[in-house]
Amino acid sequence: MKHIKSLFLLLIPALALSGCAARPAAATVSARVIDPTRPMLALTFDDGPSKYTDSILDVLAAVGGKATFCLIGNQIDNFPETVKRAAAEGHELAIHTWDHKELTALKSRDICTELSKTKDKITEVCGIVPRVLRPSYGLVNDKIKAVAADMDLVIVNWSVDTLDWKTKNPKSTVNAILRGAADGAIVLCHDLYGATAEAMKAVIPQLIEEGYQLVTVSELLSYNATEVKAGDLYRKGGARKTESSISAPQ
Ligand SMILES: [Zn+2]
Repeated sequence: MKHIKSLFLLLIPALALSGCAARPAAATVSARVIDPTRPMLALTFDDGPSKYTDSILDVLAAVGGKATFCLIGNQIDNFPETVKRAAAEGHELAIHTWDHKELTALKSRDICTELSKTKDKITEVCGIVPRVLRPSYGLVNDKIKAVAADMDLVIVNWSVDTLDWKTKNPKSTVNAILRGAADGAIVLCHDLYGATAEAMKAVIPQLIEEGYQLVTVSELLSYNATEVKAGDLYRKGGARKTESSISAPQ
């Protein structure tokens, strides 16, 4: 029988090293076990936080799954507890611009402002320094890549587009995810819609039943055999590291 080696991944949300000497009262530390020999899938939710985000967090919590929330900066102060909860429960918080401007239409200086304001807001609210950019509309050009590289951000789009924003139909979203589900898939959803939150109640338990580990995009990319670089664009997990090249922390 093949021996399966599990990798113990300790997720420690990065502490904000701002000018303020005070550190967050308690950094949440959660031990995660990800088995690199089993299929992984990354659910991503754009355009939140919203009043529907907590319901998605509830479903993920029930199965121990993690996801990535690509936040609009100017919405964070409307749902600070939701953002704190997502961080505390081990989900990834990514930058999706400050106000959903089309970044490809902006000068580098303005792209930087959109991303920095959102990055700082996420850090201010929950002490996490985001490492991933999901650009609005998934649009990317060389200017955006250069700014992302400067800010140490990896750009992540998707391999499965649910079109949930268009259909606003839970069954369509469930079907799109199950049709596109594959090892290494990155799935685009939007936590801005009640229909998407409804879809998650059905599809998340089903993905678990089908054997998928629900991971964040950074977790997914961390198993890539090749180096993941800030400023580069990724749409799915790449070829996996071989089992022998993965070593557990000492
Ligand atoms: Zn968006």
